[in-house]
Amino acid sequence: MNLENPYLLLTPGPLSTSPTVRQAMLRDWCTWDDDYNVGVVTPIREGLVKLATATRPQDYTTVLMQGSGTFSVEAMIGTAVPRDGKLLVLANGEYGNRLGRIAITLGIETVIHDSGELAPPDLSKLEAELAADPSISHVVVVHNETTTGMLNPLEEIATIVKGHGRIFLVDSMSAFGGIPLDVAALGIDFLVSSANKCIQGVPGFGFVIARVAELEKCKGRSRSVSLDLYDQWQGMEKGKGKWRFTSPTHVVRAFAQAMKELDEEGGIAARHARYSENQRRLVSGMERLGFGCILPHGLHSPIITGFHDPASPDYQFQRFYDLLKQKGFVIYPGKVTGVDSFRIGTIGHVFPEDIDRLIEAVGGSMYWQA
Ligand SMILES: *Cc1c(COP(=O)(O)O)cnc(C)c1O
Repeated sequence: MNLENPYLLLTPGPLSTSPTVRQAMLRDWCTWDDDYNVGVVTPIREGLVKLATATRPQDYTTVLMQGSGTFSVEAMIGTAVPRDGKLLVLANGEYGNRLGRIAITLGIETVIHDSGELAPPDLSKLEAELAADPSISHVVVVHNETTTGMLNPLEEIATIVKGHGRIFLVDSMSAFGGIPLDVAALGIDFLVSSANKCIQGVPGFGFVIARVAELEKCKGRSRSVSLDLYDQWQGMEKGKGKWRFTSPTHVVRAFAQAMKELDEEGGIAARHARYSENQRRLVSGMERLGFGCILPHGLHSPIITGFHDPASPDYQFQRFYDLLKQKGFVIYPGKVTGVDSFRIGTIGHVFPEDIDRLIEAVGGSMYWQA
């Protein structure tokens, strides 16, 4: 069987996975047998807590949740914020806006601080709002805003939020596993990510790392049955790794392999170094070819980078995309309002040599200059 992919996915989820991760899906599992729950699910839950905090793993737990990442975001917000709570959303892109939309749809009283897609959150405004409004119980922010690749200043935000004693929620979907952090040191109460981002698994479930003392308060708060994070947690605790409803067994088994490979690579620090080198080569290569980044270099994460479209009237994204795809690379359309751009991800089973090959392919695909 040929386990090779026809092209590399330079898209931040789903992303290119290793052949061994894909191979791990080739058997079936029983969802109530210990081979699966104790043998596969429980080590994943414990392993994720260790990845999230080296200092106080005993204070945290992991709840796995079926669905794409957004399902876990919705589970986190809908379970963490009580009926009389109020959520402040820091938004600077599509994913920040989605946090706000989820909260409003769930009927949660919501304040949105939108700093625009090209600016980091306004920290003095956050400070002032929390000081002025004690009814704001929770604050949520996107860690790496995948719309632009902007790395939001988690430490500074955490200091303000925890300084005011509020519950801190983080959408670290596209950063967790690829950017070092310690949830306990930052005072994060809930952090959400998913299988198909920096851990390099295949899509099918998300997970929430939660402070046990906070999750314990969440009984009966959820606005949904299937997305009740507390109930899902209780089910997994009491059932020793059992999911309440059918679990994506093959995906979960592949994720166990992906976590093993993260460890073998040298953990999050080593993965972060590889992604950073990928992104460094990408930016320097693209700039050499004449492409400009949409963000200043200092605001970039190593996860994904947005580039301005070439100024030529002959340029069409679809044609550029098709040429690169023929050469073995799939890139991502842009999403920033009013800025004509495209994006290239640097996460997944992708190495600096792949980026060098990509730059060569981009150089050979600039048809609008011919
Ligand atoms: C990928 C991503 C999500 C979740 O997206 P899904 O399509 O539901 O998996 C949420 N937030 C951020 C920042 C992301 O990058």
